[in-house]
Amino acid sequence: MDCVDLVVIGAGAVGLSVARLAAGEGLDTFVLEQASRPGEGVSSRNSEVLHSGIYYPRGTLKSHMAIEGNRLLGSYLEEAGISASLNGKLIVAVEEDELDALMRLKRNADEVGVEARVLDPDQIRELEPHVQCVKALFVPSAGVFDTVAFIRRLAQDAEELGAFLAYGSRVDRAVREDPCWRILVQTDEGQEEIMARTVVNAAGLGANAIAEASGFHVPPLYPCKGRYFSLVQSKGNLISRPIYPVPGRYGLGIHLTPDVRGQVKLGPDTLYVDEIDYTVDDSVGDLFFESVKRFFPVLERDDIAPAMSGIRPKIQGPGDDFRDFYVRMDGPGFINLIGIESPGLTASPALAVHVMEMLRLLFG
Ligand SMILES: Cc1cc2nc3c(=O)[nH]c(=O)nc-3n(C[C@H](O)[C@H](O)[C@H](O)COP(=O)(O)OP(=O)(O)OC[C@H]3O[C@@H](n4cnc5c(N)ncnc54)[C@H](O)[C@@H]3O)c2cc1C
Repeated sequence: MDCVDLVVIGAGAVGLSVARLAAGEGLDTFVLEQASRPGEGVSSRNSEVLHSGIYYPRGTLKSHMAIEGNRLLGSYLEEAGISASLNGKLIVAVEEDELDALMRLKRNADEVGVEARVLDPDQIRELEPHVQCVKALFVPSAGVFDTVAFIRRLAQDAEELGAFLAYGSRVDRAVREDPCWRILVQTDEGQEEIMARTVVNAAGLGANAIAEASGFHVPPLYPCKGRYFSLVQSKGNLISRPIYPVPGRYGLGIHLTPDVRGQVKLGPDTLYVDEIDYTVDDSVGDLFFESVKRFFPVLERDDIAPAMSGIRPKIQGPGDDFRDFYVRMDGPGFINLIGIESPGLTASPALAVHVMEMLRLLFG
């Protein structure tokens, strides 16, 4: 059997970004995706925020990829005419005792070179008259974009450049057969195989299982659910950009995020789970209401309703400190991308560049 240059596992933002670049460089590229269309995983269940990169410690891959991804994705959205609202975001300190955390973020922003302005209540009122807080950070390079159009366009670009996208193709594992990898795939027709010189495992929530089944020791997965509530339009009309509290240990805090269609979500929270279950009920409605009412006092309990959820492929377990993205060539030509949680959507074009740099060493 012939060996193709590259098999990418997963047609999410990361896999498709890699496929687009690889095909553009003339590599014979196959994308294997278990779902029947692209972007059915984590890439379609998130806040749709173009992050600035201010949260992550200097020198980490998350920091570098978010900052570079913000720049690359911003240009791509513009070139491709994808709907976006890039008018910054606010991170608010509601009480005096949150000011230390806010100023720590400001110092981190300065260290990593991301613009963030400290605003006082008068300046905040000018931007967002219905938001209440003692101080805020305004981050101009953040915004929201249409992730559905982004994924559709990436898939279209990759195909136009020559990549082959195979849906309904679930990868079980890969076995080394020098100088290639034999990849075992389940399709409607049964088990199939494809040989590839290089493999990029960008399977999101499925990436750890594929890596482990292929004999690699990668960090374990701790799926972490993030639930969202929707906000009634009459109140949603009162904000014009994402409004975040100061971040928590496992997530960025329950924020208010308008999408490009003008609908506003509250969320996500952080809940470690054992299974992939996207249901959301009203049992946490009071918590969402209380969290957001602190900085958005016009909110009433009846204004919000359970909406959707996403699941973060975390490698930061409960009680763990910060964990970086895991992007490594664990076997000859086999790259695993593990723990690609937020800001993975923003980082996706930069991760693709990073992966291509690793692959180019092999292709010369
Ligand atoms: C609640 C939440 C909020 C977020 N908010 C933001 C945000 O505002 N901004 C931001 O930048 N990031 C955000 N993120 C992170 C971002 O969504 C992800 O990091 C990013 O979408 C990951 O893309 P991916 O391509 O790695 O994974 P995915 O989109 O999950 O793609 C992986 C693909 O692999 C497929 N797959 C899995 N297993 C197999 C297999 N065995 N064989 C074949 N295919 C397989 C899946 O079906 C899927 O399509 C958020 C994440 C969550 C959960």
